[in-house]
Amino acid sequence: MAKETPYQVLVRDLPTHRTFEVPPELVGEWLKGLPMRDALGAPDPDPQAGHGTADLDLYADGAHAFAAGTFRGELTVACSRCVNPVTLHIDEELRVTFMPRHELPEDDDEPAGDEDGEGAEVGEEDLDVFPFDGERIDLEPLLREQFVLAVPFAPLCAETCKGLCPQCGIDQNTASCSCTPPIDPRLAALKGLKIPS
Ligand SMILES: [Zn+2]
Ligand SMILES: [Zn+2]
Repeated sequence: MAKETPYQVLVRDLPTHRTFEVPPELVGEWLKGLPMRDALGAPDPDPQAGHGTADLDLYADGAHAFAAGTFRGELTVACSRCVNPVTLHIDEELRVTFMPRHELPEDDDEPAGDEDGEGAEVGEEDLDVFPFDGERIDLEPLLREQFVLAVPFAPLCAETCKGLCPQCGIDQNTASCSCTPPIDPRLAALKGLKIPS
């Protein structure tokens, strides 16, 4: 049995409408190990890590349970160019299905089902599925996923972020330096060429 969390709801309490709050300590814990989170060098726990609120209708139908509603929140990661904090906002409509483990689609790393279409009967709109033990639904993996998926591959504080100087490391958004970029030896060779006119 998984450990008790505030994000579990007993099936016998369904249907119900619940609001779940995710505090900064938990956001920080969930995002630990993510390069753009660790790059911040934030304190642990980090009161600025982020937070979220899920507002969900929960209901069950025999072997399956469902959650539908909204998730809003924010989180702080490092800009991939200048390493300054970037606040990302989450505003998602959620529709997920909880189903017994044996009905879950194949591992994400594997192609889902067989080529001939055999495999889990999971419709396109039901691809967001989580395991379900038939007794309680655990929303923690769903909430955690909202934060993890919100982090882009290369977060930016602004499209125009100038980043750090590769020589001295100064933040080129707020300061300037007199470093001159080293000349690529291949370009240096070109410089010596005379272009025939
Ligand atoms: Zn930046
Ligand atoms: Zn510099």
